Amino acid sequence: MKHRNLIALVLVLACVGCPQLQNLSRVIMNVNVFSTQEEVQFGQQLSAEIEKEMKVLDDPKVQDHVRRIGRKIAAKAPRQDVEYHFTVIDNIKEVNAFAGPGGYVYVYTGLLKKVSDDNELAGVLAHEVGHVSARHSMKQMTKRMGFDAISKMLLGEDAQEWQVTATQMVSGLGFLSFSRKQEYEADELGVQIMNAAGYDARGLLRFLDKLVAMRDREPSAVERMLATHPAPSERRARVATQLRAMGLAHQPVQPQLHIDR
Ligand SMILES: [Zn+2]
Repeated sequence: MKHRNLIALVLVLACVGCPQLQNLSRVIMNVNVFSTQEEVQFGQQLSAEIEKEMKVLDDPKVQDHVRRIGRKIAAKAPRQDVEYHFTVIDNIKEVNAFAGPGGYVYVYTGLLKKVSDDNELAGVLAHEVGHVSARHSMKQMTKRMGFDAISKMLLGEDAQEWQVTATQMVSGLGFLSFSRKQEYEADELGVQIMNAAGYDARGLLRFLDKLVAMRDREPSAVERMLATHPAPSERRARVATQLRAMGLAHQPVQPQLHIDR
């Protein structure tokens, strides 16, 4: 163990529960990583602001439906030290979903309108739960905002800061644009999670097929999704390879036969 790491370890052991010393030890170790407890606190306060900024869908039936699928998915997530929350945002123009820090997952009504069945919705939710499981959201927020800025917010020094952060987050979602590697990781985890939860993992592939088609037909609806995610065609190719390795062949959606009488 390096000398400075030893000093940091001593500081942590000497004063568990002293935020200043824990912060100092993190600076010495150069690990700007928040604890789960800090992530949950950050996510909780941020989601309260997000829900003031955006219109939460006032339809208990739809909220319950999404929550029920979300919980089944979350139960099989590799990360179980956070509680998962699923909320539908009333915005028909956005075909998108996102996961904030601390397990807060949001889905727009615009996306719900595009899913054909529960397996496709489970695919979208499993992708977001994958981001939470791999701690992408907090890592990304820390990278964009800086460790010190978040630490300061957590200490509650500036109430307005929460509102500003939530506004920036939902207006551009720039704080939550993950790397390509993180997106592929969320897809890979998503397929494993939805399979373990008893959903047809090909649902994610079918939804990606739709994104590919939408990119050409109605690019404005998926603009933000495409700005924050790699090309859906590349994602679908990787997911298809993973499914084949699991023995699940792709079943494209059969066109409905309409017989006019
Ligand atoms: Zn993603």
